[in-house]
Amino acid sequence: MPELPELEALRIRLGPRLEGRLITAATVNPKKGHMLRYPVENFANELPARRIVSLTRRGKHLVFATELGGGGSGRWLVINPMLGGRFQMADGAAPVPATEVFTIRVEGRQELRYLDFRDMGRIYWVGDLDREVPGWAELGPEADSVPAMGIDAFRKRLRRFRDELKDLLRNQEFLAGIGNAYSDEILFEARLLPLRRRASLKPAEEEALFAAIPLVLSRAVEAILANPNYEESKQDRSFMSVHMKGGKTCPRCGHRISQLGSNREPLNFCRGCQL
Ligand SMILES: [Zn+2]
Repeated sequence: MPELPELEALRIRLGPRLEGRLITAATVNPKKGHMLRYPVENFANELPARRIVSLTRRGKHLVFATELGGGGSGRWLVINPMLGGRFQMADGAAPVPATEVFTIRVEGRQELRYLDFRDMGRIYWVGDLDREVPGWAELGPEADSVPAMGIDAFRKRLRRFRDELKDLLRNQEFLAGIGNAYSDEILFEARLLPLRRRASLKPAEEEALFAAIPLVLSRAVEAILANPNYEESKQDRSFMSVHMKGGKTCPRCGHRISQLGSNREPLNFCRGCQL
């Protein structure tokens, strides 16, 4: 499931290729029309002739701001890829994968394709983000804005929640953008066990969490962008320390990495060096 670093890398890579471009056509795969949260006809009818003003990210959503000529009538295409959503930029002549949900063609014969191999992604086409995208108005600050927030505001925010640390980090109302994979990595970096209760944290442990969140996220964005074989539609997480590494050796202490939960959505941590 793409989280903040994957979507941030996408935004960095795709933004310059899409921003300012006019949409010339939009099509929906008839087999996947049920995934759109609004009538399929609207998609094909309403996107063309609009310009993509900006590509941004909010939490685990990619947000395409569009407007009609003359600057009026802003509408947003919002995509939360969930477990199996991926994006692909392709030349219009390149074969379309079977997992394609929709395709947006822009000036210059480039196509942005949204692919989904689990059909769980959420796609919204809205005029009011707060009112029309479920959960939008409740999203917390961006997880990578923690340094700007400062330690005091972070502590205050932290103390409003009672969850176990793993659930806390995945709670989009606490911070937006972190999911199952990066919560494992952040807790490993902070040397904290995932099932610890937030209330059990000592001040130094709160500081460790404060430092680990932006560090893990920014390192991941760098690792993703540095991959010479980077492809928008692929997800490479081989740089991770513990997530999906159950049974392997901890890179920090040599202990065996633990796993709880399913293979598809595992919870990984090290009992040797996380407290
Ligand atoms: Zn360890």
